[in-house]
Amino acid sequence: VDAATAIDACVRPVEDWPVQGVTFRDVTPLLAAPDAFGAVTAALADAVRELRPDAVVGVEARGFIFGAPLALELGVGFVPVRKEGKLPADTHRATYALEYGEATVEIHTDALAPGARVVVVDDVLATGGTLRAAAELVQTCGAQVVGNAVVLEIGALAGRERLADVPLVSLRRY
Ligand code: IMP
Repeated sequence: VDAATAIDACVRPVEDWPVQGVTFRDVTPLLAAPDAFGAVTAALADAVRELRPDAVVGVEARGFIFGAPLALELGVGFVPVRKEGKLPADTHRATYALEYGEATVEIHTDALAPGARVVVVDDVLATGGTLRAAAELVQTCGAQVVGNAVVLEIGALAGRERLADVPLVSLRRY
């Protein structure tokens, strides 16, 4: 199966969630369909391989689900960026603005080798705030983001423009 077709078939739009007027793109049906999940993982791997990453960073929580098989497919390590208070060892922190309020994410200070080439993965790109915060953490570790990869982007929110300093892989745009 083709990844874009799999996404159209298996990502479920949920109207008015989490708030009125928002259409949430729910990837859980795609995760439950192994052909579709496999096609998406393979397409992400094919698209980021040429960036020659040394590590894949995934953003909690759905970035873990797509990032872990992607890292294995590429033969590189997986590094989690987590919400604050979850990582046990020394961390770097980054705080960023949400639509209402703010959020803090963390990475282990020793998670990435200095100079490592990193691809950051998440399920959905909206405003780009989450991937920007992840990039800040990668840079604080002395590593470099060589690309971002998402299953789908919400085009109207222009997250792509906020991440224009490196290549963006996105398998589908809504
Ligand atoms: P951003 O920081 O505004 O780009 O929002 C992206 C973050 O919010 C990602 O971690 C996504 O998992 C989550 N997100 C935003 N909108 C959606 C959606 O429609 N479906 C699934 N996740 C979403």
